Amino acid sequence: MFGKSIFNKHRARLLKDGGKSRRGPVIYWMSRDQRVADNWALIYSIINANELKVPLVVVFTLSEVFPSTNLRHYGFMLKGLTEVEHKFKELGMPFVTLNGDPAERLLEFSEEVKASLLISDFDPLLVKRSWKAQLNQQLAIPHYEVDAHNVVPCWYVSPKQEFGAYTIRPKIKKHLSSFLTEFPIIELKNKERVSKSINWHDVNSWFKTASEVKPVKGVVPGEKAAHEVLDEFIQAKLNGYVEKRNDPTLEWQSNLSPYLHYGHISAQRVAIEVLKAPAPEVDKQAFLEELIVRRELSDNFCYYNPNYSRFAGFPDWAKETHRIHRFDVRDYLYTLEEFEIAHTHDPLWNAAQLQLVNTGKMHGYMRMYWAKKILEWTTCPEEAMRFAIYLNDKYSLDGRDPNGYTGIAWSIGGVHDRAWPERPIFGKIRYMNFEGCRRKFDVDKYIKMNIG
Ligand SMILES: Cc1cc2nc3c(=O)[nH]c(=O)nc-3n(C[C@H](O)[C@H](O)[C@H](O)COP(=O)(O)OP(=O)(O)OC[C@H]3O[C@@H](n4cnc5c(N)ncnc54)[C@H](O)[C@@H]3O)c2cc1C
Repeated sequence: MFGKSIFNKHRARLLKDGGKSRRGPVIYWMSRDQRVADNWALIYSIINANELKVPLVVVFTLSEVFPSTNLRHYGFMLKGLTEVEHKFKELGMPFVTLNGDPAERLLEFSEEVKASLLISDFDPLLVKRSWKAQLNQQLAIPHYEVDAHNVVPCWYVSPKQEFGAYTIRPKIKKHLSSFLTEFPIIELKNKERVSKSINWHDVNSWFKTASEVKPVKGVVPGEKAAHEVLDEFIQAKLNGYVEKRNDPTLEWQSNLSPYLHYGHISAQRVAIEVLKAPAPEVDKQAFLEELIVRRELSDNFCYYNPNYSRFAGFPDWAKETHRIHRFDVRDYLYTLEEFEIAHTHDPLWNAAQLQLVNTGKMHGYMRMYWAKKILEWTTCPEEAMRFAIYLNDKYSLDGRDPNGYTGIAWSIGGVHDRAWPERPIFGKIRYMNFEGCRRKFDVDKYIKMNIG
């Protein structure tokens, strides 16, 4: 079932054809894209509800047992969701949360309200895909999925895992004029209520136990804050981005990644605003390369490679070079606990780790150095992957994201990279060192900024 021409039909696909024909509401299962504005999955849901002449209900499933989450992540997400709830109230659209096992609760709810259609947003990560697979086994109504996160839908841009930015870039560019369009504003016609209120008290009480990692002060969640961060970036930092973004002492990146991760802002909206900005073309293009090409390449990797977080997901040349260098002598070996409390011999690495723990975000350039040193100071690449993912997912506000798994697999496993001159431990994996950083930026200043 496809809407009118304002919606490019390739943004949606049928995941499950349901046998039952019912007259209940359309359910939009919001998950990865937690916003009201500029949301293709919501737009598609409204179009379908209007065509079927039925109401719409937006559902968010809250699972107590989502992997690697803590108060830092949940706090950010739940505050964003209260803003979503408020916006939906203003628009007269019901928004409900279902607490517990997502597939089971959604199935119960769709039966309870006799839903006619289910629409969900796309996510390439295994946990969400397993929820959908479990749900679809018993779902009696059609289930469509919309890629509301990428500019060009992940499954549409390429049917396979891409080798690198150089292979996906032309494929994305070919489709940009059809997908990088303004968002239509469509009124929902049938605003009948579905009675079910949100029990925020229950939800908040779950996460008191998971309070080991505290929320980050000064990073305000939600759609409104995300747009403010974007405006500030365009005004103050887009000009000069290409030259200054890789200097960790300057903080010249956009800081949009937590908002993009939770879907508080649409990457497509960010791209539209950046294109309109009066900044030098070279800065705009460098930023769009990261925002669109690199980010969508990460989704491509995770979607087509189920081993995205493991050694098995590395390219063959990287597996081979690790095989040869697996038993090379390491000058330093650290436990996970030593890494976590930033007790290594290297003040630059410790500074990066403390930046991550204290601010919820490590500078992009330092993330590469940080992950590569974990490879150098652990017993094997499998352990390095495990430690890096654990720390990134635990402390980073933008963690548990395809960008994280791909960035770590790039650093440790050569994913999307090429072979470099061979050296101990790393083999042909690209190497980084302290002196190289010193040549690029004021290392002492960065250490002082984060260690004091
Ligand atoms: C080891 C390692 C771990 C990483 N972990 C994460 C993570 O958990 N979550 C995360 O979102 N990113 C991760 N990245 C990618 C990148 O470092 C961050 O996206 C970026 O630093 C976020 O800051 P920003 O929003 O200020 O970036 P900006 O420079 O302002 O870029 C804007 C947006 O472009 C995208 N982007 C930028 N660089 C990359 C990249 N290299 N790959 C893919 N997309 C990119 C992001 O969505 C980012 O928000 C990781 C990279 C490495 C090497």
